Amino acid sequence: MGPPKPPYLLHQLTRDPGARLKLYCGACTWWRTYDAGKIAERLAAKNLLRPSTLIADVAKQVQWPCPACHRMRWATSPAERRNGEYVENPMARARGGR
Ligand SMILES: [Zn+2]
Repeated sequence: MGPPKPPYLLHQLTRDPGARLKLYCGACTWWRTYDAGKIAERLAAKNLLRPSTLIADVAKQVQWPCPACHRMRWATSPAERRNGEYVENPMARARGGR
């Protein structure tokens, strides 16, 4: 079983404990990451989690504008790792909370 390929299902990411999801702005490329398992829990609490839920569907749930350009053009991808560690955008801390 190789690495998941797009379109990525959310449950493909959550198979890997601690996996992170990258939320990025399609307008200006601002980004941050989220714990994929917590995202799945939040969708499940709203009864929005399906086996067919794509990580692209997560972007549609984001209700706040980009802190950098104030537009709402969210997209998602699996978060990148560098030397096995997830990387966070240093400019993204304390924004978008959750
Ligand atoms: Zn933006």
